[in-house]
Amino acid sequence: MSKLHNEEDWRILKERMFQGKMGQRVTISFYQYAKLGNPQLFRDYLFIHWSELGVLGRTYVAHEGINAQISVPAENFEAFRDHLYTISFLENIRLNLAIEDDGKSFYKLTIKVRTKILADGLTDESFDVTDKGTHLRAKDFNEIIEDDNTILIDMRNHYEHEIGHFKGAITPDVDTFRDSLPYIIDQIKGLEDKNLVMYCTGGIRCEKASAWMKHNGFKNVYQLEGGIIEYARQAENENLENKFIGKNFVFDERWAERISDDVISKCHQCGKPCDTHTNCENRGCHLLFIQCDECKAAYEGCCSNECKEVIHLPEDEQKKQRAGIDRGVMTFRKGRAGYLGHKSIHNPLEEGLKKFKT
Ligand SMILES: [Zn+2]
Ligand SMILES: [Zn+2]
Repeated sequence: MSKLHNEEDWRILKERMFQGKMGQRVTISFYQYAKLGNPQLFRDYLFIHWSELGVLGRTYVAHEGINAQISVPAENFEAFRDHLYTISFLENIRLNLAIEDDGKSFYKLTIKVRTKILADGLTDESFDVTDKGTHLRAKDFNEIIEDDNTILIDMRNHYEHEIGHFKGAITPDVDTFRDSLPYIIDQIKGLEDKNLVMYCTGGIRCEKASAWMKHNGFKNVYQLEGGIIEYARQAENENLENKFIGKNFVFDERWAERISDDVISKCHQCGKPCDTHTNCENRGCHLLFIQCDECKAAYEGCCSNECKEVIHLPEDEQKKQRAGIDRGVMTFRKGRAGYLGHKSIHNPLEEGLKKFKT
């Protein structure tokens, strides 16, 4: 019988990845909203096929569709795609290929059944998710964001747009996508006649958000097709001006892809220009923050002197301290910490909307 779950320890899997024993891999993301009758069955079906092809990564399956972030051995890429396209609702789906790819994005395969493929907090039954905004290709996106009647909103979270965003974009200070929807709607009320242009990492958040904005009375709603990942690809291929500055945050071991050479954020500890995210070495803390090499050395990879003290305690003592709060390796606290004084929000929502409200 085929195995339906990973049985190897993550430490061994991760070690294998960093030693480069996995050969050439391609990092891919894709999503599709659809109506799935039996997500669990679909999940198992995928797991069996993808395991055989050596696919790694994180995928969510729900009644509303699929959201996948994975890596595939280069030699199996075609077999993977061919198989995917045999699934009727995924036929010819666009696969977002990573821009900067060292193949070390994932070290194991997990496919989870969830109630939603993207937590959005929306419960309104009358909301039609298929009535979404107009998709924009990079070329048209570049044009419309120059229009004075355009409100350009970054639909990602604070730790994502902190290291990179489109020039002139409004970057709301939000922790989650779920939090962002009611907050943004509340602030943009009265601006229903403007062009509302949204973007996110790979496009999935804007699929929902654009439909939600239309549902709330906005008439001219647009979204960047395929998100920042696809934009960067088109800008490169079509020789367009690249209006994205900094790095594109990604949800895998790489943390981010560099899109332009600009470093727009600061080390949260010393304030010098830096855009490298890390997790605090203290596994009981695990805070996601930006840290430069000097601070990494001085704090031994920790977010504070307190955490630095903790990692020097015997492992038993550390375990006791984090009992019940061990957050594992892949999850990270998205919260902020008051003692990290150099966190920045470039163009908060209220600020950015001022010029449209006069
Ligand atoms: Zn520093
Ligand atoms: Zn810490």
